[in-house]
Parts: sequence; C-alpha cells; structure tokens
Amino acid sequence: MSDSPDETPAPSLDFVREKVAADVASGRYGGRVQTRFPPEPNGFLHVGHAKSIYLNFGIAEDFGGSCFLRFDDTNPETEDVSYVDAIQQDLEWLGVAPSGPVRYASDYFEQLYDWAELLITKGLAYVDDQDKETISEQRGGFGQPGVESPHRDRSVEENLRLFRQMRDGAFDDGARVLRARIDMQADNMWLRDPVLYRIRRVPHHRTGDAWCIYPTYDWAHGQSDAIEGTTHSVCTLEFTDHRALYDWCLDQLDLPSDRPEQTEFARLNLTHTVLSKRTLRLLVEQGHVDGWDDARMPTVRGLRRRGYPAAALRAFTDHISVAKTNSVVDIELLESFVRTHHNRHALRRMAVVEPLKLTITNWPVGADGTAHVEWMDVVNNPEDETAGTRSVPFCGELWIERDDFMADPPPKYFRLTPGREVRLRSAYFVTATEAVLDDEGNVVEVLATYDPTTQGGTAPDGRKVKSTMHWVSRPHAVDVTVHRYERLFRSKHPGADGNDPLDDRDPNSRITTLARAEPALGEVAAGDVVQFERLGYFAADLDDPAVFHRTVGLRDEWANIQKQR
Ligand code: ATP
Ligand code: MG
Repeated sequence: MSDSPDETPAPSLDFVREKVAADVASGRYGGRVQTRFPPEPNGFLHVGHAKSIYLNFGIAEDFGGSCFLRFDDTNPETEDVSYVDAIQQDLEWLGVAPSGPVRYASDYFEQLYDWAELLITKGLAYVDDQDKETISEQRGGFGQPGVESPHRDRSVEENLRLFRQMRDGAFDDGARVLRARIDMQADNMWLRDPVLYRIRRVPHHRTGDAWCIYPTYDWAHGQSDAIEGTTHSVCTLEFTDHRALYDWCLDQLDLPSDRPEQTEFARLNLTHTVLSKRTLRLLVEQGHVDGWDDARMPTVRGLRRRGYPAAALRAFTDHISVAKTNSVVDIELLESFVRTHHNRHALRRMAVVEPLKLTITNWPVGADGTAHVEWMDVVNNPEDETAGTRSVPFCGELWIERDDFMADPPPKYFRLTPGREVRLRSAYFVTATEAVLDDEGNVVEVLATYDPTTQGGTAPDGRKVKSTMHWVSRPHAVDVTVHRYERLFRSKHPGADGNDPLDDRDPNSRITTLARAEPALGEVAAGDVVQFERLGYFAADLDDPAVFHRTVGLRDEWANIQKQR
C-alpha cells in the first residue's frame, strides 16, 4: 500500500475477506462473489460510507466478483432523486464502478408485495389496526414480555382482503400496518412481530403514485439481496440484531439454498467528527456550514473540496481495515494519509495569509527610477525532482507573515525583530531596522536592510540565521481568499454522554483572510492542491480557483499522538 504514512503494509486479509475466501475455497455459491453497496438516497455520502464502499467494491475486485449499487429507496418521505445523482457522482470520484446497471429496491416492490401475500397465506403475517405508539408499547423490552396484538389471529382471508385494501388506498396513512407473525416473546426484539408494510401517501421519486404502501427496511433488504444474487451482504454492526429477521424472511420464501448471508463489521467513527446523516443535515439546515459540500463537512463532497484525494481515503480505509467491535479512529490518522499524499505530489508555493509590509531600504533602484526586480529560481517540490523549478519575483517591497515579526519579542522568538537577521527563502538575508506604527501603535510596516552577498539564501562568510521565512513581492502579488479551518466540533467525541453534538461546535471553525500570493498561484487549476510554504496544503476551490481551503497542516500530529501513547 503505497500511501501509508509509515509504509506498513495493510494486514493481508480482514475477517470479512477471510470469510469470503473460505466460501470461495469451499465452493459455496459456486465460487461466485457478489456484494453490494446499498445507500438510502436521503443525504450525501460521508467518509464512513467510503469505508463501506471500499470494503464492498474491494472484495469484489479481490475475488473477481461483482458489486452492485442498490438504492435502498423504501422511504419516500426523506428521499430524493437529487441524492440518487449525487451518490453516483461521488462513487465515480471515489474511483469505483458498480457492476451492471444501478438497482433500486423500488424495482422489486411488486415482487416484495407478492411475497408479503405469500407470508399471509402461510399464516405468517397479519394486518394490525393498532397505531404506531400502541404497537411500539406492546413490543416490550429486554426482560419485559411483549403483548400480542388483538388482530394477531385474523384469518388468512381477512388478512389478504385487508392487505389488498391497504394497497388499493382504502385506509388512511398510519391506519393499518402489515406485521410478520413471529414471536412476541422472542429475546430478539426484531422478531417481535416486526412491521413489514406501512401506509404512506407520499409520491415516490421512481414509482410516483403507484404505491401508497411501502415495505420497511427489513422486508426489503434481504429480499433485494436475494433477487440480485448477492452472496455476501456486508453491513455495519447496528444490524447484527436484524440478522435473525433477515434470515427469517428469506426462510419463508422457498428460495434456493445458496441465499445471501449477512456479515457485520464495525462502522467508521472519527474523533471530532459526526457521521450521522441526521446531524449533518441539521448542520446544513441550520446554516452552520455552507452546504453538504462545505470543506468542513466529513462528506465525500466536503473532503473533496477540502483537497482530500480519493487515493488517500482508500489508503486510509485499507490501513484501518475492518473490525468486529466499534472503536473511534483519530482524525489525525486520516489527515496523515492526506499529508503523505500531498507531500509527494503538491507543488510548493509562497503565500502570505496575514500580510504585513516589509520594505528593504537599501534595495537598488533601477536606472529608470523604478524598483529593481530579481527573479529567483525556486524548487517546486523537493520530494520530486521532476517537478523542476520556477521563477519568483523578488524586490524591495514585500509581504511577510504578520506573526513572523515582533517588535518586542518574548525569549526564544527567532523570527524577525529589530536588529535580528533572518533568511528570506531562496532570496537574501535581511535585518529588521525599524517597525512603522500607526496611530494606535499597531505595526503596519517593517523596514529592513538586505545583504547583497547572500543571494540564494547563504552567506559567503558562513554565518547562520535561526529562521527562514516565506515572502511575496508586493508589486507582483495576486490576491487570493484563504480559508483556514479548525475542527467543526471542539470535543473529541461530539455528542458523547448524550449531549447534543451541535452544542459542541466551534463557532470559529473557519478563518477567512485575503492572502497575497506569488504569481504562480494565479495559475492553479480548480481542485488542485499546493503547499503554501510553512503553512500547510491548500486546495484551490472547485468552483473558484482564487479561493483556497487549507487541506491539512504540515506537522504530523498523528506521529505526536503515537509518541504520547
Ligand atoms: P443514517 O446516518 O441515517 O443511519 P446510514 O449512514 O446508515 O444512515 P445508509 O445510506 O443506510 O446510511 O448507508 C449505506 C451503507 O453505508 C450501509 O451499508 C451502512 O451500513 C454503511 N455505512 C453508513 N455509515 C457508515 C460508517 N460510519 N462506517 C461504515 N459504513 C457505514
Ligand atoms: Mg442506514
């Protein structure tokens, strides 16, 4: 795995792949491997989905099988065709291609309905006239008995008649449901006569007004897997308790014996991050972010805008692999994969995000009275010789970073201060002589002298300086908008202890400034990532390349975290 920050190879086989390998070896499913990624089109994909995607598509790749994309579109109230489109675009960007045409659970509504009638005929499903609240109360709880519905023993004929009337629109929304008739005393709550169909007069983005009853997740999911020929139905741990119901449903349908089997893995959780669509939607709806594709969002679109390459997401998910128990991964680990990638590929540039004027008082003036300009040869990427060099204009009028100068510095401040000499990267040594103040005493300009013998940044007499700073020529600077980000959520585990994660937000998670940049930054293409020397990696916005988002900083915080352990 080339993108791992520490170059450690990924573990050979995770437990899901081990299981698939064993099935292939034993000839189960005739050696066939088929997985699927089943998103509900009710929001945008996030980095947790990316983990599921790379697992399911990865298994298909590794075993020469196929992986379908199936929209789990059984809930028309919250679903929309715009999400259907967005999810497909995100999959493409993530670099995976679904096998064959896109599938929809709604393609199977007729078959699912027929199977529901089959259940009724077998005495294994009934129409319940009770409301949602009553049904929920009667379900009981752990160690608490369930209560059987008074409608549980309806005749097959009555159930069929009522269920057909449900379909025909004879009843109000919520007036009746179809329930499986399993066991109201089962230890597994999912087997206590779960609801299979509900009445909802909501147009569906694909079936329009054809249906006013919709199957629940549990009635649709396993059967959709079976219809498509899924072999390994891989999902997250919260569905572990559903597995008995998944199997029960398939058991009743007289299917061939090599039906799909559900396997659960631990979902991805990241520190300082929320991966619940509900909360992500609230962030968008309450205006805390600009949209699902805001660069602070953990959505695929947000990360993409932020400058996270798909290759780094994949390398990260391969590296953390899949586990059987839930845990939380440090966000710094994901960032280290992003940093490692860009360290290899990103061109180095100079930009000043909090600009302060630096004027060199002994800089030569040209014959025509205008300032002399010198073009410095600067390396594009020290990690990549083939990236070459570029010419960067230097003159006596520069921008430097505001915090690279202090008039009255504390001890151990090695950057510019009156009387101190520092290096301007790839240019000259300069010594500050004076700070120019405004009426309120703020430093508005620094005056300095340069040593003409230090061209390129080394002194012929061998004297050293303690710091090297980036700079931008004022007359040549291009203006760019720069967004720097803090964590969207301050606490490591937002929403833990039952707190509302939205209360954990950092209200200053985005700092925006007008930066001054070397001319080459005016030529960056939308979506490209460059390193701003000393500041971090920055991605040119997808819509406006004069706007940059800080992708990650330069310091490897993951290494620090590991040292502290
Ligand atoms: P919600 O946030 O509403 O619970 P969801 O995240 O489960 O929804 P789905 O569209 O149902 O959204 O998810 C599609 C697939 O992605 C499912 O198989 C689900 O198990 C998987 N998935 C969702 N979140 C994660 C996660 N954090 N890590 C790994 N897989 C995930
Ligand atoms: Mg879900």
